[in-house]
Parts: sequence; C-alpha cells; structure tokens
Amino acid sequence: MKVVIIGNNVAGTFSAQNIRNLNEDVEIELYTQEKFPYYTRINLPELISEKISIEDLIVFKDNWYKSKNLKLHLNKKVNKINPQNKTISIEEKDELISYDKLILALGSTPNIPPIKNAVVMKNDKKGVFTLRSIDDALEIKDYIKNPDVNKAIIIGGGLLGLELANQIKDCNLETTVVEFFPQLLPRQLDIECGIMLKEEIESRGIEVVLNATTEEILGDGKVIGIKLKGGEQYDADIVLIQAGIRPTIDLAKKANIETNRGIIVNEFLETSEIDIFAIGDCIEYKNQIYGIIPACMEQSKIVATSVFGTKNVEYKGTTPKNTLKIMGLDLTSIGVIEPSKEPSGGWEILRKADKKDCCYQKLVVKDNKLKGAILFGETKAISFIYNKMEQNVSKEELRKLLELYVYECENCGAKYDEVTMDVLFKDLPDDWKCNCGALKTKFKKMND
Ligand SMILES: Cc1cc2nc3c(=O)[nH]c(=O)nc-3n(C[C@H](O)[C@H](O)[C@H](O)COP(=O)(O)OP(=O)(O)OC[C@H]3O[C@@H](n4cnc5c(N)ncnc54)[C@H](O)[C@@H]3O)c2cc1C
Repeated sequence: MKVVIIGNNVAGTFSAQNIRNLNEDVEIELYTQEKFPYYTRINLPELISEKISIEDLIVFKDNWYKSKNLKLHLNKKVNKINPQNKTISIEEKDELISYDKLILALGSTPNIPPIKNAVVMKNDKKGVFTLRSIDDALEIKDYIKNPDVNKAIIIGGGLLGLELANQIKDCNLETTVVEFFPQLLPRQLDIECGIMLKEEIESRGIEVVLNATTEEILGDGKVIGIKLKGGEQYDADIVLIQAGIRPTIDLAKKANIETNRGIIVNEFLETSEIDIFAIGDCIEYKNQIYGIIPACMEQSKIVATSVFGTKNVEYKGTTPKNTLKIMGLDLTSIGVIEPSKEPSGGWEILRKADKKDCCYQKLVVKDNKLKGAILFGETKAISFIYNKMEQNVSKEELRKLLELYVYECENCGAKYDEVTMDVLFKDLPDDWKCNCGALKTKFKKMND
C-alpha cells in the first residue's frame, strides 16, 4: 500500500510517523511546497527578533525521515488531485504520482479581513505582511532593518498578534495592537481578564486600541498608516495582519471534495471522497475549525488507523487549549471559559481575581465535571487542570486549589465566603464592616 501525504507540518509529519509506527512496510511519501523539513511555527516571531535561528525551528532534519523510511519531497506544489485514477499532479512537472490512500494536511493561510489596500499592498511588498512561514518571518526581519521603519501596527489582538507585537517591540519599534473586538483575546478570555491583560500589555510599552475596525491601509509607494472606520488614523511604517486563519481548501474543492470553511471530515477523518482523508488546520469537523497543534496531534493518531481501514478509533473533537507565549506573562486558557455564551444551562464558576497581584483564576464546572479554566499570572493549578479536564471534581478541591477561604465574624457568626464574593477578603478596605458593625479584624479564617 502507498500512502501519499500533502503537507509536511505537524499534521502531515505526525500522520506519517504514526502510520509508520503501525506498519513497517507501507510506502509513505510526503509532498510540501515549502523548502524546509518539518519546522515549528510557534517560535516564528522570535526569528524576526533574531532570538533564534532557522536551525532552531527545524524539528526533524533529513536524517529523521530516512530513519523512518519516509520519502520527503520539498519544493513540490501539488496542483491537482485526480480521485478517478487516484493520482496527484505536481506544478510545473508532467509527472503524476499515484496513491492508494491520500491524506490532505494542507494547513491554513492567514486571514486578511476586508481592508482597503491590504491584499494589494501585501502582494506588492509595500510594508504589509502576514506571518505564517519561515519565509514570511525573514521578509519581516529584513523590512524592519530599514532605519526608516520605526512604527509598527499589528492588526489583531489574538494570541499570535500579541506574541508578534511583543517581539516587534523588542526590535525597538513603537508598537500598536489594533483589535476589532472590545477586548484582547476575545476567544480565550472573559472581559474581566481581558482588561487585566490589556493593562499588562500596555505596561510593556505596547499601545492597545480596542473596538477598532481597520477600514484602509494608507500609503502609495509604501505604508504610512491605517484608517479606522470611525475616521481615526494611526501612523505606521509597517502593518502586520494577524487576524485568524483560512483553511486551505482550494485543491480539495477543485477535486469536488466536500468543503465549507474547511475540508469536511467525519469522525474517521474521511473526506467525501473514497480513500482521501484530511487532518489539521485544513479541516472542518462538526462546524469546528481548530487551528491548534493539539488538534493536529490527536487527529494524526486517528487518521493512522483509518488509512488501514480499522474503524475502531473515532475523533471526538479537541478541547481548545491555548497559552500566551510572552516572557514573564503566564496565561493559559482551556475549554469553556464563558458559560453565558453556551446554549445549555447548569454551569458553575469559581473565580479568584487578585487585582493587587495581577492574578486571575477562573474554573468552569458543569455536572461536577471540570469544563474549562483561565489562569492568568498564576500557574500553580495548571497540572491539576490539565489532568482533571472533563473529569469529576469536587467544589472543595477546587476551593483549595484556588486558595479561596471562608472568614467568620467572631461577633455575630456571619460568613464571608470568597467563592461567592467578587472581592477577596484581603482586598477589602481596612474600614470595611460586617453588618453587625464589627471591623474586618474581627473575622477569622475558617478553612486553612
Ligand atoms: C506564528 C505562529 C505561532 C503559532 N503558535 C501556536 C502555538 O503556540 N500553539 C498551537 O497550538 N498552535 C500554534 N500555531 C498554529 C499551528 O502552527 C498550526 O495549528 C499548525 O501549524 C497546523 O499544522 P498543519 O500541519 O495542519 O498545517 P500547516 O502548518 O499550515 O502546514 C501545511 C503545509 O502544507 C503545505 N501545502 C499546502 N498546500 C500545498 C500544496 N498544494 N502542495 C504542497 N504543499 C502544500 C503548506 O505549505 C504547509 O507547509 C501557530 C501558528 C503561527 C503561524
């Protein structure tokens, strides 16, 4: 049997590895249009600020492929899938490559919102960039070396936008993040934690503009700024757009494989076409696009069994898990973080907002199961949360985990339970009084 994989990043590479782990004899070929073997995209912003080199990004070098008997074809863009005769065609080559099973691990490209001049100024290299590949990072690095480039605008206040802003700031550029939503990380944080994060980002010298719809990129020969919908203008010598992803679907669409926003797959990661599978950023499963590495890794295990026709492992979706990678700033968001946006009821929330120490912890529970968490500025609970996601948890152990206490008034017996109060007991003003008139000092901690 011959398995052909198009795409050689996380999804493609780990599918190849997992298939090899199941079978030593199957022929496996990988095709990628990029010129590098599998490298991680996570640290691309640090390539711009020259904290790391290309070598540091490469995860598996040529020898790794050889040792696993995987044939890797770099610089080969697939331009057609022919499901009728089970072949793919390579751009500018007459050859047809045959397959018995085909895996589409085509990934995604940066989304460019409908902003006047954005696409044309990016294509004409007039100071508008997106970041997805090593080549993109190298182009940005070269551009900002020009002494005339001093001000940067990052369109998009999501994880990648903030990580990029942090590295651009480290290159000594005046840096502004422009976000469409009323808060940073709108998909990973609630509004309260969003405000804390904004303050933290601003304290690092990065300007943040919220509720901002970029309407136009200004400049003729090169970028000179942006204009927002309200008419406000911001100067910039470079504009970096980091506003989500678009799954790569064209190749599948041309081959009449069912697509929507992504390539549609079922629980075995089969597409609508027999013997063609798809995984990673390019897929849509039950209306979800994932765009994160843990999803690619999970799917790569399942597709490895599916190509052998063993339909005993089903994909059930991946819990979103995100960590902001900015030095000295700890932020992790996992699963459901805003129950008010969920269709069903019965949710419980335990939160601890320690504004003085700039820490925020929120745990989301439903039917006694841990469903989600935000941890900002405090990492002690991370391993507990990773281990207990979707598992039964008791209120008491969560209370202990977050160090939330009950205080009792020695005068009247009234209780101050931090689980139900917005303000931590230590943050109450010194002249705060119990209903009976007793001062804060009359309260005793009950559950140490
Ligand atoms: C800057 C940055 C930071 C990130 N940080 C994180 C993080 O911290 N955590 C996390 O979980 N995720 C992160 N991500 C997202 C993560 O990198 C993606 O989820 C992951 O790369 C998806 O892997 P993939 O294999 O599905 O697709 P891709 O990585 O997009 O790879 C697809 C490959 O297929 C190739 N290809 C496409 N079409 C063709 C064709 N026609 N012919 C030949 N080759 C083709 C592409 O060139 C590409 O090499 C980050 C992404 C970026 C850009």
